[in-house]
Amino acid sequence: ATPTSIMVGTGRAADLGVLFRKGQALQTLRDCQVIALDKTGTLTRGEATLTDFILKGDLLHDEILTLVASAEFVSEHPIAQAIVEAAKEQGLSLQKPERFRATAGMGVTATVNGKIIEVGADRFLKEKYPELIEMIKQGQRLAEEGKTPLYAVIDGEPVATIAVADTLKDTTAEAIKGLHQLGLKVAMITGDNRATADAIARQLGIDEVVAEVLPKGKVDAIKALQDKYGTLAFVGDGINDAPALASADVGIAVGTGTDVAIEAADVVLMSGDLNGVVNALAVSQATMRNIK
Ligand code: ADP
Ligand code: MG
Repeated sequence: ATPTSIMVGTGRAADLGVLFRKGQALQTLRDCQVIALDKTGTLTRGEATLTDFILKGDLLHDEILTLVASAEFVSEHPIAQAIVEAAKEQGLSLQKPERFRATAGMGVTATVNGKIIEVGADRFLKEKYPELIEMIKQGQRLAEEGKTPLYAVIDGEPVATIAVADTLKDTTAEAIKGLHQLGLKVAMITGDNRATADAIARQLGIDEVVAEVLPKGKVDAIKALQDKYGTLAFVGDGINDAPALASADVGIAVGTGTDVAIEAADVVLMSGDLNGVVNALAVSQATMRNIK
């Protein structure tokens, strides 16, 4: 491609709300066979709400929710924010935990009022607490509705099955259709539960789901998709998407995402609308066609 045609192409993309930080990306994008997208904050709004809080036995709802929400009080994860919001809305007064530790892609462990609270995914807790099995079955049913199931344990006693749900952006379904129309395969990469991810992917007609990926595993997931489909663009928004954005053939950051993601990307969408990805591809295909 000539420098002029690249300049024209990047200019046209900019008019459509897509910033090419590197001219090379306009060429590489044309060759992409697969688009992999992060789920939370990319396909979805990234603002979860608490949908289910099912207590084990006859425990007191307010007491348990207060402890669980206090344990999540200092976590920045959308799941934590959903639980904290719900507790506040119910008029519960929360406190900062005395101790707090987040395990990436797993859950949190905190000490609140001298009690040890653990909240997280089944894989975070099930080996330590085999008796969670019944609650995990309950959570799987919630996952099939596209909700994210979590489990809470207090001082070693399983106390609640919890679910949060995030909604798809209004524009996501249309964007996925647009990607398919341009002849691309569409994959989703997420740390979320397999059943939850499958339910969401089914709604969108996504071709392939890589679920229960730990933050460190996103790069490996990208490599596997590249081996299977070829040249790949990855779209993400979070801090933990930065390595994946850097290792994809083209990294595309959602403009509403974190600075770390934007820094690692070749292309930046000016809004959260994934139709920007479709526009970027269309401009790339048109530019490269003109100069052949
Ligand atoms: P994603 O960004 O795809 O949602 P994450 O790696 O951030 O993936 O999280 C993966 C899973 O780890 C979540 O679905 C949840 O089960 C668990 N998890 C992460 N953070 C928390 C938290 N603060 N509280 C409870 N569970 C959490
Ligand atoms: Mg995300």
